[in-house]
Amino acid sequence: MWYRLAHQFEGDIGVRYGGEMRWENSPDRAAQLRQRIQQIQAWGYPCRLITRDEVLALEPQLQPGDVLAASFSEADIHIETDTFIDVCLQYACESGAVVHSETEVTGFVVHKGSIAVVKTADTEFPCDVAILASGVQTTALGSLVDVRIPQQRSPGIVIQTTPCAEVLHNVAIIHAPPMDAKRHQHLHLRQLTDGSLRIGQGTQEGINRDDSQQHADALLERAKIYFPAIGDAKAIPTPVGYRPMPLDGFPVLGFTKAVPNLYIALMHSGVTLAPLVGEMAALEIIDDVQVEWFKPYRLERFG
Ligand SMILES: Cc1cc2nc3c(=O)[nH]c(=O)nc-3n(C[C@H](O)[C@H](O)[C@H](O)COP(=O)(O)OP(=O)(O)OC[C@H]3O[C@@H](n4cnc5c(N)ncnc54)[C@H](O)[C@@H]3O)c2cc1C
Repeated sequence: MWYRLAHQFEGDIGVRYGGEMRWENSPDRAAQLRQRIQQIQAWGYPCRLITRDEVLALEPQLQPGDVLAASFSEADIHIETDTFIDVCLQYACESGAVVHSETEVTGFVVHKGSIAVVKTADTEFPCDVAILASGVQTTALGSLVDVRIPQQRSPGIVIQTTPCAEVLHNVAIIHAPPMDAKRHQHLHLRQLTDGSLRIGQGTQEGINRDDSQQHADALLERAKIYFPAIGDAKAIPTPVGYRPMPLDGFPVLGFTKAVPNLYIALMHSGVTLAPLVGEMAALEIIDDVQVEWFKPYRLERFG
């Protein structure tokens, strides 16, 4: 759906094509990767195992070391979210929306069981529908109208670097194996159009609270072993980010039974899912239908 969205909008919306490549340097993890690719293929997702030569053909400057198994998912992309959000806000405004940035929602007025007014410090906005898409704060805002939205705490770190030479020539995202599996996790790396890198470790849900310069430097040093072209780019530590993470890990989507005009959109992988959730949620909110795909993700599953 990202491809379709990019086609619908004019100009650059922040989508970076090229696919995802990963490889493994130990027999155990190579076997796991082969299994994973079979599973993903069985789900109907286009990806395949590739040889070491193909790895190097895709990224000639990569120094991968041993390659016991490697894979490439051609359809994968990464998103420069700042660009995408700017484009969305611009289109929303051109369509008649009014954006109040840096304006905190502080409360709601409930009338006959539904939200009648959204309150900020100095303004009251009468509404027919209120949508909570407020990330980790969704739980606190829901509690203002006695709606319980259980979340787990899920801290993670993705560091940034200063701009450097072109490191990735074809591929959008790289997952590299740990060189010392006892001490390190996998590394993931992508490059933005300004030349800066985003580097993280472990899985997309991995817990990490270390936002020190030392940790950022260590991640970058590990990345340089695979990508000497990074040169003397500097690591910029990024504060711990808390993923919006419902208690069972799955999205919470839809109107609530308790407050019928309150719509919730809370999820991890909200970037990956944005075009799908945006389009389906719009159907539910504007056309007053219940999208069947969303059935497992209603708030009421928590009881
Ligand atoms: C380290 C890390 C790595 C991640 N990696 C990925 C990934 O690889 N792929 C992926 O898809 N997702 C990833 N995510 C998750 C992704 O960032 C979220 O799923 C996504 O940002 C959710 O979007 P959202 O718009 O629902 O919420 P958010 O992006 O959290 O936005 C919520 C907005 O609501 C505003 N807000 C909150 N309270 C109020 C209030 N009272 N009044 C007014 N405004 C308010 C906030 O300021 C914020 O602007 C990652 C998250 C982290 C932390």
